[in-house]
Amino acid sequence: TWNNVPLAPPDSIFKLTAAYKADPYPHKINLGVGAYRDDDSKPWVLPVVKKASQIILNDATLDHEYLPITGLSEFVTGAARLILGENSPAISEGRVVSVQTISGTGANHLGALFLSRYYHFNGDKAIYLSDPTWANHFAIFNNVGIKPLLYPYYDPKTIGLDFTGFIATLQSAPERSVFLLHACAHNPTGVDPTEEQWKTIADVVVAKQHYAFFDTAYQGFASGDLERDATAVRYFVSRGVPLLVCQSFAKNAGLYGERVGALHIVTPTKETADRVRSQLSVLQRSEISNPPSYGARIVALILNNPELFEEWKADIRTMAGRIIQMRKELYRLLTEELKTPGNWEHIVNQIGMFSFTGISEVQSKALTEGAHVYLTTNGRISMAGLNSKNIRYFAEALDGVVRG
Ligand code: PMP
Repeated sequence: TWNNVPLAPPDSIFKLTAAYKADPYPHKINLGVGAYRDDDSKPWVLPVVKKASQIILNDATLDHEYLPITGLSEFVTGAARLILGENSPAISEGRVVSVQTISGTGANHLGALFLSRYYHFNGDKAIYLSDPTWANHFAIFNNVGIKPLLYPYYDPKTIGLDFTGFIATLQSAPERSVFLLHACAHNPTGVDPTEEQWKTIADVVVAKQHYAFFDTAYQGFASGDLERDATAVRYFVSRGVPLLVCQSFAKNAGLYGERVGALHIVTPTKETADRVRSQLSVLQRSEISNPPSYGARIVALILNNPELFEEWKADIRTMAGRIIQMRKELYRLLTEELKTPGNWEHIVNQIGMFSFTGISEVQSKALTEGAHVYLTTNGRISMAGLNSKNIRYFAEALDGVVRG
């Protein structure tokens, strides 16, 4: 038995973390993992999360019963308001279906599965992903028989957005194609469309009747402002674009391992929403039966209690602020102190946890092998891995490989 099972390669990000952990070098830096670290390179439990978990622990009325199939209702309704807006007409008209999922990955999977069953594809089952994108997107869509195609996104020449290529593919794709869009803080590039560019993207999406599959894993991380980071999604909803949103609370609430997320499908009528909800429940039942309660209870408390919500916003500003600070400091070190050859504007222009440095695969590998700086070979760095103690070491190492 199992002689037919080929050995799969290990996941590249998890492999990188293992190599980092095994390295005894004292000045090693891990810029691979997409998780927030404080100025001491430590994971950060948000103070508001500590407070909310204490409330849960002290609540004698709570038990360990199953949640409903679609999840904790205070959580999913709060989560929908967070991304779609307090006064979202789609919510008040009952047109939004919200289901609690196994974090953002589970939301992507359930959304993909639902599309594979019920979306009226124009030809082959396919989805357009940004080139590049979060590597797991390929596996998630392949798993449900939806073929990943690519649309131009990142332009290595400008280390910015290939807006012309992106628009051209939106225009040339068959009508009613499905496009996966990163709502903010694009992973892995840190390159987001401007508000004006989002409007043009929406114009073409509307004209071609495309379906928008939004993935939002970094709301709050891009700008430090939850509202601002929801702008693109809300704008698309206001334009009547048919869409769904995959939402993760891993990063913005620091609840990575608790797997808190939601899938929101915005539909044209309440009656459609009821039908969609019924089928999502059927799919969810056979996949996970019902979602886990602990993390959802924490987030539900934060979303529904105005005082805790304000505290959360402050915690998010702490995380986003530190990351923005690291961008500025890296830029200053490279341009003013080290006078590293090349243009480094993109370090401060890019958004969110990740930055595409623009360095080559050879240079990325040289950083790891020569300087014990762990990063993916595409030159992506997690800004959260930098801090006031290691940033100079990193800037000097980067300067070294750039000069060759
Ligand atoms: N989408 C994107 C673009 C991501 O970067 C991530 C996290 N790396 C996710 C979804 C989902 O993460 P999780 O399942 O931990 O919420």
